[in-house]
Amino acid sequence: NVQMYSQSKACLDEWVTHYQSYSTYGQTANYIPALRTINSSHLGICIIVPDGTMIKSGDCEVSFTLQSISKVISFIAACLSRGIPYVLERVDVEPTGDAFNSIIRLEMHKPGKPFNPMINAGAITIASLLPGESSQNKLEFLDVFIEKMIGKRPTINEEVFRSEWQTAHRNRALAYYLKETGFLESEVEESLEVYLKLCSIEVNTEDIALIGLILAHDGYHPIRKEQVLPKNVAKLAKALMLTCGMYNASGKFAAFVGLPAKSGVSGGIMALVPPSVRKELPFQNGCGIGIYGPAIDEYGNSLTGVKLLKHIAQEWDLSIF
Ligand code: GLN
Repeated sequence: NVQMYSQSKACLDEWVTHYQSYSTYGQTANYIPALRTINSSHLGICIIVPDGTMIKSGDCEVSFTLQSISKVISFIAACLSRGIPYVLERVDVEPTGDAFNSIIRLEMHKPGKPFNPMINAGAITIASLLPGESSQNKLEFLDVFIEKMIGKRPTINEEVFRSEWQTAHRNRALAYYLKETGFLESEVEESLEVYLKLCSIEVNTEDIALIGLILAHDGYHPIRKEQVLPKNVAKLAKALMLTCGMYNASGKFAAFVGLPAKSGVSGGIMALVPPSVRKELPFQNGCGIGIYGPAIDEYGNSLTGVKLLKHIAQEWDLSIF
């Protein structure tokens, strides 16, 4: 194994350097002022296997905000506290084929139920379902759950939060519409505060790789040896990652990468490889993958990150299909 890991590390170093050169073809998320100015040439990756071994390469220690990757976590947390049926009455599990912040289907398909929790309309609704009487309580519930997975309390990047809060016109419009149609359970401003604070949680590639690893193992934390979320919730989250996790590029991603993954506009991608029955494969016991590459493409996915993942999945034959 040690030899396999050092070989994998050598491959990753080469591929990361190669794909980093593509970062000029993407841009940082310029609709969020605080994200406009981050270094767009970063590219880093962390892979964690069940015994806790980490294979890291590139700018893997740079911290960044979760953005839409938080949608997987808040969905899981809502299922834990409210139960799956309650949550699915308010948010569906169908891909849209539209941009992540699209508003169009809410009115087109009465009664305006959000299509899935991986787009903004769904995630704002999910934020309103979290337990607690105030935004503070709701966030606290998430913090405790995240700590169970990554072993530390998450911190919020206040600058990114403020920047989004001041410019969240479209998210506000979505929230008001959801309030009017009755899907939002809390007040508009409270739901938005929770949603945007979750988007502003600071992580690094190691943190999201670890969450990916736990999901790869159906909610079992292989390092702490503890079931941290129920198997059925983990499976549901993975199905949503596969069908909706890369926004309106999810089909292409499933076709050419073939792994459950969730992206965020800050350039993070949380991906996972489930354990395989094919013993000859590297990473046959599954792994979590965290990537950071802030140059994003027209869908809002890390341009360099997707290219790197595609290469890795093809070279190491990791597609779940
Ligand atoms: N905070 C961002 C927004 O609401 C998250 C979007 C994303 O990562 N795609 O627009």
